[in-house]
Amino acid sequence: MSRQLILTEVERLLALSVRHYADDPELAQNALEHAWRLCVHTDTPIPKNLRLIRCTKCGKPHIPGRTAKVRLIKGKILWLPNNCEHIKQIRYK
Ligand SMILES: [Zn+2]
Repeated sequence: MSRQLILTEVERLLALSVRHYADDPELAQNALEHAWRLCVHTDTPIPKNLRLIRCTKCGKPHIPGRTAKVRLIKGKILWLPNNCEHIKQIRYK
C-alpha cells in the first residue's frame, strides 16, 4: 500500500471515530486502534490529529468539547480528559 492510501484510510477511520463516539464508544475506540496499528505496521509517521486525539494511556479518543477540555495556560496547550488522568501538554511559545 502506498503512503498516500494509508493516510487516506487513517483520516477516514479518525473521522468515523469522532462521528460515532456518542452512540458507539467501542466502535470509536476500535477505529482509533486500527488506525494506530496501520501506521505502526507500515512504518508511516503517525498524523498529528491521530496523535492528539488518541490517548496513549487508555486508548480512548479524547475529543475536545466532548470527552476532553482544551485550555491555553502559560504558553502551553493543556489537554484535560474527563474520564482519565493522562494530561497532555504541548508548548506553543
Ligand atoms: Zn486516557
